[in-house]
Amino acid sequence: MKIICIGRNYADHAKELNNAVPNEPVFFLKPDTALLPAGSDFYIPEFSSNIHYECELVLKIRKVGKHIPVDFAHDYFDEIGLGIDFTARDIQDEQKAKALPWEKAKAFDNSAPMGQRFLALNLFDSNNISFELKKNGTTVQLGNTKDCIFNFSQIVAYVSQFITLKTGDLIFTGTPAGVGPVAIGDHLEGFIEGEKLLDLNIK
Ligand code: MG
Repeated sequence: MKIICIGRNYADHAKELNNAVPNEPVFFLKPDTALLPAGSDFYIPEFSSNIHYECELVLKIRKVGKHIPVDFAHDYFDEIGLGIDFTARDIQDEQKAKALPWEKAKAFDNSAPMGQRFLALNLFDSNNISFELKKNGTTVQLGNTKDCIFNFSQIVAYVSQFITLKTGDLIFTGTPAGVGPVAIGDHLEGFIEGEKLLDLNIK
């Protein structure tokens, strides 16, 4: 499986990092070695002194597809989960300044912790799903899919023009404003519509 991440999909987050709001989806990949299963701790890697959390809704792809039309894209996913797109912001800033790829900052081991389970998407209105991240008990990110620039179907259709999607692939759909650093001893909790799905200790 592979992990595809959408960048700058919430205008308020693009602005907080001084990025332009894109007119087509921005995406990058993480390898399967980035996955951190629920119940594991996250250890801050030695190569960065500014690891940021980015809480994101995660689509799970249910069947193989390529060149998927937008109008049929909903048939390729039916579950939603919650994950963290951990980012070495110091390294990303260096890479951006040199116009180099982001993998060093985004694709490192355990940079994609996942929540405990996925939820059936038919329980929700896909265009109005709220999600939340708390750090040490305080809400730091509050998002809603009504504020995303590209919706789930547009993302799946767009990415599938370039990369074949396979069963079990995960798509991180972007983070809202409020990203920030983690430190040893922090505790992250993630929620979809108030239901706690992610519980992560930073070591
Ligand atoms: Mg992200």
